[in-house]
Amino acid sequence: MVGAGPAGAVTAALLRRFGYDVEIWERARFPRHRIGESLPPRAVALLRHLGFQANGFAVMEGHTSVWGTTEPHRAVFEEGYGLQVDRDRFDQLLIDQSSAPVQFGRIVTDLLKEDGKVAGVRWNHGQTRARFVVMATGPGKGSRPLRQSATFGYWRNSNHPHGSQANDTIIESFADGWVWSLRLASDLRNVTVVFDSPGLSYQEAIRQTRFVRQMMEGAALVSKPLGCDASWQCAASFAEPGMLLVGDAGSVIDPLSSQGVYKAFCSAMSAAVVINTCLKRPELEAAALDFFNEEERRTYDGYAAGSVATFRAEQRWPERPFWKARHSLSTWDVQPRAFSVDIASAIEAGRAMDLTFQNAAGVRIAQRPTMSGSFIELNEYLVTTTFDYGYRGKYAALFMTVHRALSSAKALQQLIADLSRTAAYRFILPPVERPVLLHVIAYMYREGLIESVSTSA
Ligand SMILES: Cc1cc2nc3c(=O)[nH]c(=O)nc-3n(C[C@H](O)[C@H](O)[C@H](O)COP(=O)(O)OP(=O)(O)OC[C@H]3O[C@@H](n4cnc5c(N)ncnc54)[C@H](O)[C@@H]3O)c2cc1C
Repeated sequence: MVGAGPAGAVTAALLRRFGYDVEIWERARFPRHRIGESLPPRAVALLRHLGFQANGFAVMEGHTSVWGTTEPHRAVFEEGYGLQVDRDRFDQLLIDQSSAPVQFGRIVTDLLKEDGKVAGVRWNHGQTRARFVVMATGPGKGSRPLRQSATFGYWRNSNHPHGSQANDTIIESFADGWVWSLRLASDLRNVTVVFDSPGLSYQEAIRQTRFVRQMMEGAALVSKPLGCDASWQCAASFAEPGMLLVGDAGSVIDPLSSQGVYKAFCSAMSAAVVINTCLKRPELEAAALDFFNEEERRTYDGYAAGSVATFRAEQRWPERPFWKARHSLSTWDVQPRAFSVDIASAIEAGRAMDLTFQNAAGVRIAQRPTMSGSFIELNEYLVTTTFDYGYRGKYAALFMTVHRALSSAKALQQLIADLSRTAAYRFILPPVERPVLLHVIAYMYREGLIESVSTSA
């Protein structure tokens, strides 16, 4: 395990529970400062679920944003509470609870490869073999669709609101960037600014805000403002035989989301299961590595799409270079699918019984890797040429039943009659009410999995 951040510590802990000997190698000496202190409720819940304790940190019950408007908007979390953590103590706590031995001051410089497989690492004092190497080394060298830096400083005596709101994460946009702020249990306030206006200083940037500026009136900056890279990054591949890139080593998302640590936990969970599969069921190694690549890529794309949507919600300064650059990130734009709203509604309402449907071209059933307990397995899903991941979730089996029933074109009336006779439909699947079946068929039509023969002719 290379890297003792959240990704490394959680992967190590889970692999230890699977019974593996794990050692963490870390180039720094702890405690070391790391930015990224706001843990949303789902990160805290996942941490608890994984058996970690995180006590003594400031409890966050909501967040306040000033975005797209001058009015602050406060949202209280309904799904639990988050934490504002000082990362030097938090990261130490994670490695302590991982129960894996940690070697500090070991700098991994390269991967050791044999027969096309990673077989260990080269480091500052030699080389060491390992059955599997996890690179949890933080931001790497992936492609960077958005280059940006962040400048952060710690303050005392800010005028934050009292009560539980004092621990809110605060986000405020301004003409040349945005500010992110939180208060730690030590009463230190982190104010981080992401901006790209040459010549603008950290303090001048804060003065461009309204809400944060008021909060910082009379506050004292107690640390020298430091810059750090905050660019988006994504590796071309996250996995190869004998090695995984976990957490930020694989991809880095925009700090706007405050989800980097949560993403690292999720990546660590997948990594532990993938490694367990590679080592105990080598016949599934290729499927397990595919799974990791696919999940990590999809996760990154999902966060990227979310950040783009948030940037586009700020339309007060569309001509300013900062916002123009972010509004023009179009890679994650969803291309609208062509379908008839009338037909979709008619299917759902049971008014399309005479219409004939068939499977759309390129839609097929394929074996796709899935996480099942502590292993990756292959299961059947309906896939398309553009969505190789496959349609999953509650109705995945029903999608495949409909697809099989439509091996030849038929009227909706006939399709439903055939389905009700299908053993898979009646016995294997849980009972499905007719409105649910119509809803699923309408969904498949909207997704382009089936098409109406009459309209496409
Ligand atoms: C400005 C900013 C604000 C952020 N805010 C938040 C936030 O509010 N909430 C949130 O969840 N996330 C936030 N993040 C993201 C968060 O910091 C990261 O996602 C998180 O730290 C990733 O954890 P990791 O374990 O993958 O990597 P890291 O925490 O970077 O850990 C990697 C470790 O690997 C070690 N290492 C590196 N190279 C080597 C080597 N060659 N040999 C040995 N050891 C090595 C490093 O010393 C380090 O300890 C923010 C990021 C930025 C830039």
